[in-house]
Amino acid sequence: MSTGKLTINLDAVANNWRALNAKSHITVQTGAVVKADGYGLGAARVARALTTAGVRKFFVAFTEEGVALRDALGPTPEIFVFSGHMSGDTDMIADMALTPMVNSLNQLTRHLEALPDHPFGVQLDTGMNRLGMEPTEWLAVQQIVMQAGPQLVMSHLACADEPDHPMNQQQLTRFHELTDGLQVPRSLAATGGILLGPDFHFDLTRPGIGLYGGLPFEAAEPTVRLELPVIQIRDLEPGESVGYGNTWIAERLTRLATVSAGYADGLFRVLGENVNVYCGADKCPVVGRVSMDALTVDITDISETPRTLDIICEHQKVDALAGLAGTIGYEVLTSLGNRYNRRYSGRS
Ligand SMILES: *Cc1c(COP(=O)(O)O)cnc(C)c1O
Repeated sequence: MSTGKLTINLDAVANNWRALNAKSHITVQTGAVVKADGYGLGAARVARALTTAGVRKFFVAFTEEGVALRDALGPTPEIFVFSGHMSGDTDMIADMALTPMVNSLNQLTRHLEALPDHPFGVQLDTGMNRLGMEPTEWLAVQQIVMQAGPQLVMSHLACADEPDHPMNQQQLTRFHELTDGLQVPRSLAATGGILLGPDFHFDLTRPGIGLYGGLPFEAAEPTVRLELPVIQIRDLEPGESVGYGNTWIAERLTRLATVSAGYADGLFRVLGENVNVYCGADKCPVVGRVSMDALTVDITDISETPRTLDIICEHQKVDALAGLAGTIGYEVLTSLGNRYNRRYSGRS
């Protein structure tokens, strides 16, 4: 086996959902966001495990993702689509029983004309200025919408990962102003919003990253391990160079391992400057440039000859790796390449 082995722990995903579910009152439902192929971990497998754990409402970004999820889950769970009712999507929305979150007057008109009896929800913009109806648009169509009977009204927080950011309270206040008194289920919180406390929970929460073990859910169980097979080991004399551009030069007699994953597998090139891999608990520095399919590692200081080295493991979690690349756990997970040999542990 020459490609990296990516082990995805479905029990950890389910446990993370249970832990987030336990943070809100029993009357609040906890959904699950499985967009971008379940944050890179495989939407079908993740969503089936979450269904077993008790999830009844799923969220995806695009209609096509909803179609694939419906195929994986069968008819029962509700599947909401954040991008709403796009031109050309009507048949998929109808045939696959998807619930578009309409984002604009344009989408609202399209939905009510094309599928007047089909479930829908509304996304409101409370300040993020990314998706959702503006407050003035909402006030103009609120009566029409409420007559049609939406499944859900939602908005999304821009700064929920910073608990003290004043934007959280501003968006909460605006969401209340736009929705108080309406007979419709409401949703405001993703992972960060759940952690902000009960004022943010409303009727339904929409965690994504916390399920997959990422910040801001610090108490999350890690869900992935990435082991990279060693392809080759060689000994270098002092003064010999390693990799493209000769960026690293051995200063001593060096044992060098070449392992099988590179930037084409989501191990960003920028990582080459400061990342380690692990042999058990022993740290070994990556040296030289990350190339497309390989990393080179200084293993001089470990006593054994490793067959594999770990780059995501208990000693270097997803967010630690992300920090070294100047990014966030979300991007590391969704960049995990499709060349890995993927193994699922736990329930399916
Ligand atoms: C991605 C997304 C979520 C999930 O956010 P996390 O931070 O991953 O929990 C929830 N709602 C919307 C609208 C999103 O785009």
